Amino acid sequence: MRNVRNDFPILKKVHNGHQIVYFDNAATTQKPLQVIHAIVELLEYHNGNPHRGAHILSVEAGTLYDEARLAVQRFIHAPSVDEIIFVRNTTEALNLIARSYGETHLQKGDKIVIPISEHHSNLVTWQRVCAETGAELVYMYLDEAGHFTPEDLEKIDEHTKIVAFAAVSNVYGMKRPVKELVAKAHAVGAVAVVDGAQSTPHMKTDVQDMDCDFYVFSGHKMCGSAGTGVLYGKKALLEDMEPFLLGGDMIEYVAEQQTTYNVLPYKFEAGSQNVEGAVALKAAIEYLEDLGMEEIERHEHVLTARCLTGMQKIPHIHLIGSTDASEKTGVISFTIDGVHPHDAATILDSFGIAVRSGHHCAQPLGAHLGIEASNRASFYIYNTEEEVDYFLEKLPLVRKQMG
Ligand code: PLP
Repeated sequence: MRNVRNDFPILKKVHNGHQIVYFDNAATTQKPLQVIHAIVELLEYHNGNPHRGAHILSVEAGTLYDEARLAVQRFIHAPSVDEIIFVRNTTEALNLIARSYGETHLQKGDKIVIPISEHHSNLVTWQRVCAETGAELVYMYLDEAGHFTPEDLEKIDEHTKIVAFAAVSNVYGMKRPVKELVAKAHAVGAVAVVDGAQSTPHMKTDVQDMDCDFYVFSGHKMCGSAGTGVLYGKKALLEDMEPFLLGGDMIEYVAEQQTTYNVLPYKFEAGSQNVEGAVALKAAIEYLEDLGMEEIERHEHVLTARCLTGMQKIPHIHLIGSTDASEKTGVISFTIDGVHPHDAATILDSFGIAVRSGHHCAQPLGAHLGIEASNRASFYIYNTEEEVDYFLEKLPLVRKQMG
Protein backbone atom coordinates (compact mmCIF):
# COMPACT_ATOMS: atom_id res chain seq x y z
CA MET A 1 0.00 0.00 0.00
CA ARG A 2 1.30 3.49 -0.78
CA ASN A 3 2.51 5.63 2.12
CA VAL A 4 -0.50 7.73 3.10
CA ARG A 5 0.95 9.59 6.09
CA ASN A 6 1.23 12.95 4.32
CA ASP A 7 -2.52 12.88 3.75
CA PHE A 8 -3.10 13.06 7.53
CA PRO A 9 -1.92 16.40 8.97
CA ILE A 10 -2.67 15.34 12.56
CA LEU A 11 0.04 12.66 12.43
CA LYS A 12 2.64 15.46 12.51
CA LYS A 13 1.47 16.49 15.97
CA VAL A 14 4.19 16.45 18.62
CA HIS A 15 3.22 15.60 22.19
CA ASN A 16 5.64 15.71 25.10
CA GLY A 17 8.53 15.91 22.62
CA HIS A 18 7.38 12.82 20.68
CA GLN A 19 5.63 12.64 17.34
CA ILE A 20 2.24 11.16 18.08
CA VAL A 21 1.72 7.44 17.45
CA TYR A 22 -2.01 7.01 17.06
CA PHE A 23 -3.08 3.50 18.07
CA ASP A 24 -6.68 4.26 19.07
CA ASN A 25 -8.22 3.63 15.68
CA ALA A 26 -10.92 1.28 16.93
CA ALA A 27 -12.33 4.28 18.83
CA THR A 28 -12.11 6.67 15.89
CA THR A 29 -9.77 7.18 12.94
CA GLN A 30 -7.98 10.29 11.75
CA LYS A 31 -9.11 12.15 8.63
CA PRO A 32 -7.16 12.63 5.40
CA LEU A 33 -6.97 15.98 3.62
CA GLN A 34 -9.24 14.60 0.91
CA VAL A 35 -12.04 14.26 3.47
CA ILE A 36 -11.28 17.56 5.21
CA HIS A 37 -11.28 19.39 1.84
CA ALA A 38 -14.56 17.77 0.78
CA ILE A 39 -16.27 19.18 3.89
CA VAL A 40 -14.70 22.62 3.39
CA GLU A 41 -15.72 22.68 -0.28
CA LEU A 42 -19.32 21.82 0.61
CA LEU A 43 -19.47 24.58 3.20
CA GLU A 44 -17.74 27.12 0.95
CA TYR A 45 -19.69 26.49 -2.26
CA HIS A 46 -22.70 24.16 -1.98
CA ASN A 47 -24.27 24.48 1.46
CA GLY A 48 -28.06 24.34 1.66
CA ASN A 49 -30.80 22.27 3.23
CA PRO A 50 -31.16 19.34 0.81
CA HIS A 51 -34.41 18.33 -0.88
CA ARG A 52 -36.24 21.31 0.61
CA GLY A 53 -35.73 24.27 -1.70
CA ALA A 54 -35.96 25.08 -5.39
CA HIS A 55 -32.82 27.23 -5.16
CA ILE A 56 -29.44 26.19 -6.42
CA LEU A 57 -27.78 25.63 -3.03
CA SER A 58 -30.53 23.31 -1.82
CA VAL A 59 -30.37 21.43 -5.12
CA GLU A 60 -26.58 21.10 -5.00
CA ALA A 61 -26.59 19.94 -1.37
CA GLY A 62 -29.33 17.43 -2.27
CA THR A 63 -27.31 16.10 -5.20
CA LEU A 64 -24.21 15.66 -3.01
CA TYR A 65 -26.27 13.89 -0.36
CA ASP A 66 -27.76 11.51 -2.95
CA GLU A 67 -24.32 10.83 -4.43
CA ALA A 68 -23.03 9.88 -0.99
CA ARG A 69 -25.81 7.34 -0.63
CA LEU A 70 -24.85 5.82 -3.99
CA ALA A 71 -21.21 5.61 -2.84
CA VAL A 72 -22.28 3.70 0.28
CA GLN A 73 -24.43 1.33 -1.81
CA ARG A 74 -21.42 0.56 -4.04
CA PHE A 75 -19.02 0.22 -1.08
CA ILE A 76 -21.07 -2.42 0.74
CA HIS A 77 -22.56 -3.90 -2.47
CA ALA A 78 -26.19 -3.34 -1.46
CA PRO A 79 -28.75 -4.36 -4.08
CA SER A 80 -30.66 -1.06 -3.91
CA VAL A 81 -29.87 2.50 -2.90
CA ASP A 82 -33.25 2.57 -1.12
CA GLU A 83 -31.81 0.15 1.43
CA ILE A 84 -29.17 2.65 2.60
CA ILE A 85 -30.37 4.75 5.55
CA PHE A 86 -28.17 7.53 6.89
CA VAL A 87 -28.13 7.71 10.68
CA ARG A 88 -25.80 9.30 13.24
CA ASN A 89 -23.70 6.21 14.01
CA THR A 90 -23.74 2.45 14.59
CA THR A 91 -25.46 2.95 17.92
CA GLU A 92 -28.38 4.83 16.40
CA ALA A 93 -28.72 2.22 13.64
CA LEU A 94 -28.93 -0.56 16.22
CA ASN A 95 -31.46 1.41 18.24
CA LEU A 96 -33.52 1.87 15.09
CA ILE A 97 -33.57 -1.88 14.44
CA ALA A 98 -34.33 -2.67 18.07
CA ARG A 99 -37.23 -0.22 18.25
CA SER A 100 -38.72 -0.51 14.78
CA TYR A 101 -38.17 -4.24 14.26
CA GLY A 102 -37.37 -5.88 17.61
CA GLU A 103 -40.10 -4.35 19.73
CA THR A 104 -42.79 -4.95 17.12
CA HIS A 105 -41.85 -8.46 15.99
CA LEU A 106 -40.91 -10.27 19.22
CA GLN A 107 -42.99 -11.65 22.06
CA LYS A 108 -42.70 -13.81 25.17
CA GLY A 109 -41.09 -17.15 24.36
CA ASP A 110 -38.85 -15.65 21.66
CA LYS A 111 -35.06 -15.45 21.98
CA ILE A 112 -32.42 -12.95 20.93
CA VAL A 113 -28.99 -14.57 20.75
CA ILE A 114 -25.78 -12.52 20.92
CA PRO A 115 -22.11 -13.17 21.82
CA ILE A 116 -21.01 -12.03 25.30
CA SER A 117 -18.34 -9.89 23.61
CA GLU A 118 -20.78 -7.42 22.04
CA HIS A 119 -20.36 -3.67 22.32
CA HIS A 120 -23.00 -2.15 24.63
CA SER A 121 -24.70 -0.63 21.58
CA ASN A 122 -25.47 -4.14 20.38
CA LEU A 123 -26.44 -5.40 23.81
CA VAL A 124 -28.29 -2.78 25.86
CA THR A 125 -30.55 -2.28 22.85
CA TRP A 126 -31.61 -5.95 22.99
CA GLN A 127 -31.99 -5.85 26.77
CA ARG A 128 -34.70 -3.25 26.29
CA VAL A 129 -36.40 -5.19 23.49
CA CYS A 130 -36.58 -8.12 25.92
CA ALA A 131 -37.88 -5.91 28.74
CA GLU A 132 -40.59 -4.52 26.43
CA THR A 133 -41.65 -7.77 24.79
CA GLY A 134 -40.93 -10.52 27.32
CA ALA A 135 -38.40 -12.14 24.97
CA GLU A 136 -35.20 -13.62 26.44
CA LEU A 137 -31.64 -12.40 25.81
CA VAL A 138 -29.34 -15.41 25.47
CA TYR A 139 -25.54 -15.17 25.37
CA MET A 140 -22.98 -17.19 23.47
CA TYR A 141 -20.04 -17.23 25.91
CA LEU A 142 -17.21 -18.16 23.49
CA ASP A 143 -14.11 -20.17 24.40
CA GLU A 144 -11.01 -18.79 26.09
CA ALA A 145 -9.52 -17.55 22.82
CA GLY A 146 -12.79 -15.85 21.84
CA HIS A 147 -14.06 -18.45 19.33
CA PHE A 148 -17.64 -19.66 19.08
CA THR A 149 -18.14 -23.13 20.55
CA PRO A 150 -20.57 -25.80 19.26
CA GLU A 151 -22.68 -25.17 22.41
CA ASP A 152 -22.83 -21.48 21.54
CA LEU A 153 -24.15 -22.20 18.07
CA GLU A 154 -26.77 -24.62 19.43
CA LYS A 155 -28.35 -21.67 21.25
CA ILE A 156 -29.60 -20.48 17.87
CA ASP A 157 -32.73 -22.62 17.83
CA GLU A 158 -36.35 -22.49 16.65
CA HIS A 159 -37.27 -19.95 19.40
CA THR A 160 -34.63 -17.51 18.13
CA LYS A 161 -35.96 -14.47 16.29
CA ILE A 162 -32.84 -12.27 16.20
CA VAL A 163 -29.14 -13.17 16.05
CA ALA A 164 -26.99 -10.07 16.44
CA PHE A 165 -23.19 -9.95 16.41
CA ALA A 166 -20.23 -7.83 15.44
CA ALA A 167 -18.42 -8.94 12.26
CA VAL A 168 -15.26 -7.99 14.20
CA SER A 169 -15.21 -7.71 17.98
CA ASN A 170 -13.93 -4.38 19.29
CA VAL A 171 -12.17 -6.17 22.19
CA TYR A 172 -10.88 -9.37 20.60
CA GLY A 173 -10.40 -7.89 17.13
CA MET A 174 -11.33 -11.29 15.80
CA LYS A 175 -13.13 -11.73 12.49
CA ARG A 176 -16.37 -13.60 13.09
CA PRO A 177 -17.71 -16.38 10.83
CA VAL A 178 -20.35 -14.01 9.48
CA LYS A 179 -21.75 -16.18 6.70
CA GLU A 180 -21.99 -19.21 8.97
CA LEU A 181 -23.83 -17.25 11.68
CA VAL A 182 -26.20 -15.64 9.18
CA ALA A 183 -26.98 -19.05 7.66
CA LYS A 184 -27.59 -20.47 11.16
CA ALA A 185 -30.00 -17.61 11.90
CA HIS A 186 -31.86 -18.08 8.63
CA ALA A 187 -32.10 -21.84 9.11
CA VAL A 188 -34.31 -21.23 12.17
CA GLY A 189 -36.21 -18.30 10.63
CA ALA A 190 -34.38 -15.58 12.61
CA VAL A 191 -33.06 -12.30 11.22
CA ALA A 192 -29.33 -11.65 11.34
CA VAL A 193 -28.11 -8.22 12.48
CA VAL A 194 -24.43 -7.62 11.72
CA ASP A 195 -22.57 -4.84 13.51
CA GLY A 196 -19.93 -3.74 11.01
CA ALA A 197 -18.44 -0.91 13.11
CA GLN A 198 -15.05 -2.65 13.34
CA SER A 199 -15.10 -4.55 10.03
CA THR A 200 -16.25 -2.02 7.42
CA PRO A 201 -13.16 0.22 7.76
CA HIS A 202 -10.72 -2.68 7.49
CA MET A 203 -11.91 -5.17 4.87
CA LYS A 204 -14.14 -5.60 1.85
CA THR A 205 -17.84 -5.58 2.73
CA ASP A 206 -20.45 -7.36 0.66
CA VAL A 207 -23.88 -7.47 2.28
CA GLN A 208 -25.27 -9.64 -0.52
CA ASP A 209 -22.56 -12.22 -0.04
CA MET A 210 -23.13 -12.18 3.75
CA ASP A 211 -26.89 -12.34 3.14
CA CYS A 212 -27.42 -10.48 6.44
CA ASP A 213 -30.77 -8.82 7.05
CA PHE A 214 -29.35 -5.68 8.65
CA TYR A 215 -25.80 -4.29 8.53
CA VAL A 216 -24.66 -1.17 10.40
CA PHE A 217 -21.49 0.91 10.67
CA SER A 218 -20.06 4.34 11.57
CA GLY A 219 -18.34 6.83 9.27
CA HIS A 220 -15.95 8.19 11.90
CA LYS A 221 -14.16 4.84 12.23
CA MET A 222 -13.28 4.83 8.51
CA CYS A 223 -11.85 8.32 7.90
CA GLY A 224 -15.26 9.98 7.73
CA SER A 225 -16.55 12.57 10.16
CA ALA A 226 -18.45 12.11 13.40
CA GLY A 227 -22.24 11.96 13.25
CA THR A 228 -22.46 9.68 10.22
CA GLY A 229 -23.61 6.12 10.34
CA VAL A 230 -25.31 3.74 7.97
CA LEU A 231 -28.09 1.23 8.35
CA TYR A 232 -28.45 -1.25 5.51
CA GLY A 233 -31.58 -3.38 5.68
CA LYS A 234 -33.28 -5.72 3.25
CA LYS A 235 -36.03 -3.80 1.52
CA ALA A 236 -38.91 -6.09 2.51
CA LEU A 237 -37.98 -5.76 6.19
CA LEU A 238 -37.50 -1.98 6.07
CA GLU A 239 -40.79 -1.50 4.22
CA ASP A 240 -42.59 -3.46 6.89
CA MET A 241 -41.10 -1.38 9.75
CA GLU A 242 -42.49 1.74 11.42
CA PRO A 243 -40.31 4.89 11.35
CA PHE A 244 -37.98 5.38 14.32
CA LEU A 245 -38.00 9.19 14.55
CA LEU A 246 -40.68 11.50 13.25
CA GLY A 247 -40.63 14.80 11.35
CA GLY A 248 -38.79 16.34 8.41
CA ASP A 249 -38.38 14.43 5.16
CA MET A 250 -39.85 11.21 6.52
CA ILE A 251 -43.42 12.29 5.80
CA GLU A 252 -45.49 11.94 2.64
CA TYR A 253 -48.54 13.90 3.78
CA VAL A 254 -49.46 15.32 7.17
CA ALA A 255 -53.10 15.92 8.09
CA GLU A 256 -54.31 17.26 11.42
CA GLN A 257 -54.69 13.85 13.03
CA GLN A 258 -52.58 11.49 10.94
CA THR A 259 -49.58 11.22 8.66
CA THR A 260 -48.59 9.00 5.78
CA TYR A 261 -44.89 8.22 5.51
CA ASN A 262 -42.38 8.77 2.74
CA VAL A 263 -40.86 5.90 0.77
CA LEU A 264 -37.51 4.30 1.58
CA PRO A 265 -34.92 5.45 2.45
CA TYR A 266 -36.45 8.79 3.53
CA LYS A 267 -38.97 7.12 5.84
CA PHE A 268 -36.16 6.57 8.34
CA GLU A 269 -34.36 9.92 7.97
CA ALA A 270 -36.16 12.45 10.17
CA GLY A 271 -35.06 16.08 10.40
CA SER A 272 -32.53 18.06 8.37
CA GLN A 273 -29.86 15.78 6.98
CA ASN A 274 -26.16 15.79 7.90
CA VAL A 275 -24.86 16.76 4.46
CA GLU A 276 -21.32 17.50 5.72
CA GLY A 277 -21.20 14.01 7.18
CA ALA A 278 -22.50 12.36 4.02
CA VAL A 279 -20.04 14.27 1.85
CA ALA A 280 -17.19 13.32 4.19
CA LEU A 281 -18.28 9.68 4.11
CA LYS A 282 -18.31 9.66 0.31
CA ALA A 283 -14.81 11.18 0.24
CA ALA A 284 -13.66 8.60 2.81
CA ILE A 285 -15.12 5.73 0.79
CA GLU A 286 -13.42 6.96 -2.39
CA TYR A 287 -10.14 7.32 -0.47
CA LEU A 288 -10.33 3.76 0.90
CA GLU A 289 -11.44 2.33 -2.46
CA ASP A 290 -8.46 4.01 -4.08
CA LEU A 291 -6.12 2.30 -1.59
CA GLY A 292 -7.98 -0.99 -2.04
CA MET A 293 -9.69 -2.80 0.82
CA GLU A 294 -7.62 -5.97 0.28
CA GLU A 295 -4.44 -3.88 0.51
CA ILE A 296 -5.68 -2.24 3.70
CA GLU A 297 -6.39 -5.63 5.25
CA ARG A 298 -2.97 -6.91 4.22
CA HIS A 299 -1.19 -3.83 5.64
CA GLU A 300 -2.96 -4.16 8.99
CA HIS A 301 -2.19 -7.88 9.08
CA VAL A 302 1.55 -7.14 8.82
CA LEU A 303 1.36 -4.67 11.72
CA THR A 304 -0.78 -6.97 13.84
CA ALA A 305 1.42 -10.03 13.34
CA ARG A 306 4.54 -7.99 14.17
CA CYS A 307 2.96 -6.48 17.28
CA LEU A 308 1.52 -9.77 18.57
CA THR A 309 4.88 -11.52 18.13
CA GLY A 310 6.69 -8.71 19.93
CA MET A 311 4.19 -8.45 22.78
CA GLN A 312 4.34 -12.18 23.48
CA LYS A 313 8.06 -11.79 24.22
CA ILE A 314 7.49 -9.10 26.86
CA PRO A 315 7.01 -10.43 30.42
CA HIS A 316 3.90 -9.46 32.41
CA ILE A 317 1.83 -8.71 29.29
CA HIS A 318 -1.37 -10.72 28.82
CA LEU A 319 -3.11 -10.71 25.46
CA ILE A 320 -6.89 -11.07 25.44
CA GLY A 321 -8.23 -13.65 22.99
CA SER A 322 -6.57 -15.29 20.02
CA THR A 323 -2.93 -14.47 19.24
CA ASP A 324 -3.29 -15.74 15.68
CA ALA A 325 -2.97 -12.64 13.49
CA SER A 326 -4.62 -14.39 10.55
CA GLU A 327 -7.99 -14.38 12.34
CA LYS A 328 -7.71 -10.82 13.59
CA THR A 329 -7.88 -7.27 12.32
CA GLY A 330 -5.56 -4.69 13.84
CA VAL A 331 -7.09 -4.69 17.34
CA ILE A 332 -4.98 -5.96 20.26
CA SER A 333 -6.37 -5.86 23.81
CA PHE A 334 -4.07 -6.60 26.72
CA THR A 335 -3.39 -6.19 30.41
CA ILE A 336 -0.12 -5.61 32.24
CA ASP A 337 0.48 -7.32 35.60
CA GLY A 338 0.25 -4.86 38.48
CA VAL A 339 -0.56 -1.83 36.31
CA HIS A 340 -4.01 -0.32 36.02
CA PRO A 341 -4.88 0.20 32.33
CA HIS A 342 -5.45 3.93 32.90
CA ASP A 343 -1.93 4.25 34.33
CA ALA A 344 -0.52 2.25 31.42
CA ALA A 345 -2.30 4.50 28.92
CA THR A 346 -1.07 7.62 30.72
CA ILE A 347 2.55 6.41 30.71
CA LEU A 348 2.32 5.44 27.03
CA ASP A 349 0.80 8.85 26.31
CA SER A 350 3.90 10.46 27.87
CA PHE A 351 5.84 8.74 25.03
CA GLY A 352 3.36 10.09 22.48
CA ILE A 353 1.58 6.74 22.08
CA ALA A 354 -2.24 6.89 22.09
CA VAL A 355 -3.93 3.66 23.20
CA ARG A 356 -7.33 3.02 24.72
CA SER A 357 -7.91 2.04 28.32
CA GLY A 358 -11.12 1.01 30.05
CA HIS A 359 -13.91 -1.52 29.54
CA HIS A 360 -14.19 -0.82 25.78
CA CYS A 361 -17.99 -0.61 26.11
CA ALA A 362 -18.13 -4.37 26.72
CA GLN A 363 -18.70 -4.69 30.47
CA PRO A 364 -20.51 -8.07 30.34
CA LEU A 365 -17.44 -9.54 28.60
CA GLY A 366 -15.16 -8.00 31.23
CA ALA A 367 -17.30 -9.47 34.02
CA HIS A 368 -17.33 -12.87 32.28
CA LEU A 369 -13.54 -12.89 31.85
CA GLY A 370 -12.87 -11.32 35.25
CA ILE A 371 -11.05 -8.43 33.55
CA GLU A 372 -12.71 -5.17 34.54
CA ALA A 373 -10.51 -3.03 32.31
CA SER A 374 -7.73 -3.45 29.78
CA ASN A 375 -5.67 -1.57 27.22
CA ARG A 376 -6.23 -1.71 23.50
CA ALA A 377 -3.89 -0.83 20.64
CA SER A 378 -5.56 -0.65 17.24
CA PHE A 379 -4.06 0.10 13.83
CA TYR A 380 -5.09 1.74 10.61
CA ILE A 381 -3.80 2.59 7.16
CA TYR A 382 -1.30 5.23 8.30
CA ASN A 383 0.38 3.18 11.03
CA THR A 384 3.83 1.77 10.30
CA GLU A 385 6.11 -1.06 11.37
CA GLU A 386 8.42 1.57 12.89
CA GLU A 387 5.57 2.75 15.11
CA VAL A 388 4.88 -0.84 16.19
CA ASP A 389 8.57 -1.25 17.08
CA TYR A 390 8.53 2.02 19.04
CA PHE A 391 5.47 0.79 20.97
CA LEU A 392 7.20 -2.55 21.67
CA GLU A 393 10.27 -0.65 22.90
CA LYS A 394 8.27 1.56 25.29
CA LEU A 395 5.80 -1.07 26.55
CA PRO A 396 8.25 -2.75 29.01
CA LEU A 397 8.97 0.70 30.52
CA VAL A 398 5.38 0.98 31.74
CA ARG A 399 5.92 -1.40 34.68
CA LYS A 400 9.33 0.14 35.39
CA GLN A 401 7.79 3.62 35.63
CA MET A 402 5.23 2.31 38.11
CA GLY A 403 8.21 1.39 40.30
N1 PLP B 1 -20.13 -1.64 17.75
C1 PLP B 1 -18.80 -1.84 17.82
C2 PLP B 1 -18.25 -3.21 17.54
C3 PLP B 1 -17.96 -0.77 18.10
O1 PLP B 1 -16.64 -0.97 18.19
C4 PLP B 1 -18.52 0.51 18.34
C5 PLP B 1 -17.65 1.65 18.71
O2 PLP B 1 -16.58 1.50 19.22
C6 PLP B 1 -19.89 0.65 18.25
C7 PLP B 1 -20.66 -0.44 17.96
C8 PLP B 1 -20.55 1.98 18.46
O3 PLP B 1 -20.13 2.87 17.48
P1 PLP B 1 -20.61 4.40 17.55
O4 PLP B 1 -20.08 4.93 18.84
O5 PLP B 1 -19.98 5.03 16.37
O6 PLP B 1 -22.09 4.39 17.51
